[in-house]
Order: sequence, then C-alpha cells, then structure tokens
Amino acid sequence: MSPLDLPLGPGGEFDLIRAIAERLGPKGRHLGDDCALISVDGATLVLSTDMSIEGAHFQTGWLSDEEIGWRSAMGALSDLAAAGAECLGLLAAVSVPHQAQRDRVVAVMDGVGQAVAACGGAVLGGDLTAAPVWALAITVIGRASRPASRHGARPGDGLWVTGQLGGARAALAAWQDGREPAAGLRQAFARPAARIAAGQWLVQAGARAMMDLSDGLAGDAHHLANASGVALDVNLDVLPVAEGVAEEGARLGRAAVELAAEGGEDYELLAALPETFGASEAASFQSAVGLPITRVGDVRAGAGVVLHRAGATVELHGFDHFR
Ligand SMILES: [Mg+2]
Repeated sequence: MSPLDLPLGPGGEFDLIRAIAERLGPKGRHLGDDCALISVDGATLVLSTDMSIEGAHFQTGWLSDEEIGWRSAMGALSDLAAAGAECLGLLAAVSVPHQAQRDRVVAVMDGVGQAVAACGGAVLGGDLTAAPVWALAITVIGRASRPASRHGARPGDGLWVTGQLGGARAALAAWQDGREPAAGLRQAFARPAARIAAGQWLVQAGARAMMDLSDGLAGDAHHLANASGVALDVNLDVLPVAEGVAEEGARLGRAAVELAAEGGEDYELLAALPETFGASEAASFQSAVGLPITRVGDVRAGAGVVLHRAGATVELHGFDHFR
C-alpha cells in the first residue's frame, strides 16, 4: 500500500514522488501534502523541508547574499502558511562554494534569520558544508491546532487566491533576457513573503482546503483537485496579476494571465472556501492581513482542472523540475 495519502497532480516530478512512495511502502507515512503533521501531547507539529540551489532556483548575479537566504527561507516557510500553522522556527543546512568568503555565508544566514523572524520564529540549528555551488535545505517547524490540508474542498466551494500573481515569473523572464527586472517584479522574486498570517486567518474563516502556489496555479490547482477528489474551474480573466507582468508578457508574446498562472514562487495561497465566503469576508481578510484575496474559480463534482480564458478553455502548465 502506498504511503501517499493524497493523490498528486500530473507531471514528471510527481511521477517520481509516486514511484518513491510505492517503493517506501510502510516505511513512508502520510505523504503528499505541503507539510508533515506529528501529534505530540495534544499539539500538532507541522514540518516541511525545501531546497534552493544555485543554478536551479537562482543565480548569484541576480540576488544579494542576504536575498538568497531570505528567499530560500520564505519558500520553505510558505508551506507552513499553506497549513495555516504558526511558525516556531527552522533548521538551515547550507552548502557553500569552496571559494566563497566567510562574510558571504554570514550574509546568507542573515537573510534566513530575517525571514524566519518576520514569520515569528527563529533559526534553531543547521549544518554547513563546502560544495561546488550554493544550496540551502531549509526545514521549517510550526504548530497548528487545526492544520489545513489540500484535502477537503467540496463542490460548491469558491476558489480564492491571496495577493497578486506573476511577479516572480516576470522577474525571471527579464533576467533570462539579460535585463534587470522592474523594481516591483524584482521584489516579488527576491523578497517573497510566506503568507503565515493569511493562512491562519483563512483556517479560522473555515477554509476547507489550502495550499501554497510554489509551482504556479496552473499546475498546483491539480494537486488540490486530486487531493480533494473534486474538479476545479479557474477563470483566468479574473486572476490578480502583479503590476509589470503584462510588459514582460508582451516581450514573450504571452498574456499576463498566462505568466501569472504558470509562474510559481510568488508564494501566494490557494484556498477553497465555503460559498458563504463572499465580498464582505474578503474585505475583512484584507483589513486583517493587508492583502487582497480574489475569487478565481469554483469547485465542482468531478475531476481535473479546467482553465477558462475569454470564453474558451486553455492548456497551461506549472513549473516541473523533472519535465
Ligand atoms: Mg507547498
């Protein structure tokens, strides 16, 4: 029996996870969600681990050392937000290029420390090693009385996203084109914020299912649909798109909403909320958390994700390391 509790969406990375889960059998447990949950004396500990590697996730020429640390930590902390957990802290295992100066390592860890402190936690330990490139493996630790999961969306629920999408993807497009991104786009990539307060607020508001958009809505929505055993209709025409994405999209010949749906690493949250969650609840969310929340679709009976744009359906994919 596979220890993969929740079915994942399609894609090479997830085929590999399915194969690993199959081989692990009873040696694995409750795999497939944003976080692992461990009950200890009535409390639920919430854990997740995430890697950020030079060349795969960032280039040193794009970011300051402090930003490398901040961004890596926030990417990991975002999984705690997805579970609606509070942040207790993190462990950081860092590989440092052989030629790197000591003060660069300290600056990277300064960024890690600033990120976890902004989420209410602290650096609790880690490991240092020398290797050909920068790599950060960040293990985050949180606590939740009622952790959210990708499982639980029901037909009739609304599908909502926090914040604005596409900024990090558009920044990447600029760098890959040899240009410096516009300030707002650069900020989205270099200084993302894990939506810890938003996640906790949405759990309190009755979120039925939640996840973070680390690989892009177009791919990540499949995970929520499959884990919940429902179909999702997403209306791309109403996606909240970050400022400046349209300009980068135009250079690539792509619509802004396509970049916004495909691009991960904005670390916004996707939540299925009961039909009773409407405009006034969205306004309460914004005044409590300081972020917009936008209804982008509906949950219905069935399977799969349908993306609608200008009256037609479109095929888009999220990011997949193993595609
Ligand atoms: Mg996640």
